[in-house]
Amino acid sequence: MIKYDLHSHTTHSDGHLTVEELLARAVDKNIDVFAITDHDTVAAIEPARAFIKRENLPLKLINGVEISTKWESFEIHIVGLNIDTNDSTLHTLLSEQQQKRETRAIEIGHRLNKNGFEGIYQQARELAENAQITRAHFARALIERGVAKNFPGVFKKYLGRGKTGYVPSNWCDMQTAIAAIHAAGGVAVLAHPSSYKMSNKWLRKLLVEFKSVGGDAMEVAQPQQAPSERQFLGLLSQEYELLCSQGSDFHFPTSYLELGKNLYLPKDCQGVWQIWEKHEGVAL
Ligand code: AMP
Ligand code: MN
Ligand code: MN
Ligand code: MN
Repeated sequence: MIKYDLHSHTTHSDGHLTVEELLARAVDKNIDVFAITDHDTVAAIEPARAFIKRENLPLKLINGVEISTKWESFEIHIVGLNIDTNDSTLHTLLSEQQQKRETRAIEIGHRLNKNGFEGIYQQARELAENAQITRAHFARALIERGVAKNFPGVFKKYLGRGKTGYVPSNWCDMQTAIAAIHAAGGVAVLAHPSSYKMSNKWLRKLLVEFKSVGGDAMEVAQPQQAPSERQFLGLLSQEYELLCSQGSDFHFPTSYLELGKNLYLPKDCQGVWQIWEKHEGVAL
């Protein structure tokens, strides 16, 4: 059985492991086909390919990205898989998104400053180094200051929608992200459909919209989900005629989440990998 993990992050966005550390861990976990999908950047892909070649790692890398989009009042993440990272349409979009990340981070800094967290932008920026800055970097900075013990706590208090440090985003729309992924020859995957805190009625509305603007697939399997949730997402994928993906969305190891852990599709689900395997065969 080929082991796929098609969603992960490095220190080029908010992952805690470097490209090299992440790839070594993926090999250690016996992953055969692996996608790196950093937030709004493909900076990890070239060094990843170089490292795989240099170390002759037994793993097939799928070029990936995770693009933040705005739909209604939600921030919807769209994963692009098997993309040409040199495509100019994709590059232009990612540059715009990166500019928006920086502008938003400065604004988050202002808001938190006003609430007594002086110098918080600088602290988050230092944690990010040259990476794409995310709310996760602010979360780490706030945790360092002792305001909460963990990510859920700090998002609930300061960074989640409607909280003091929340700055409504100005991300591109779903159609723009999907078009850029397609321009780059990739497949567009709706990321973690259960994480948007929306009712099933809204989720169905989202799936209709995603499909109608050209979306190809949805994530169905994640390591930490309940079996019933996976089953439900599998049924939705069939109802809306979307291919299925699976990924850990790995940022750092925790007790409940690991690369490649507990990833399999429910019966009758069609794996998104058939798109590229059709052209390339399955040889690793
Ligand atoms: P951003 O893309 O800058 O809005 O940052 C969102 C990132 O924060 C996500 O990709 C997650 O890695 C991280 N995160 C961790 N916990 C939460 C949470 N409870 N709500 C939203 N984001 C979270
Ligand atoms: Mn993240
Ligand atoms: Mn995401
Ligand atoms: Mn992710």
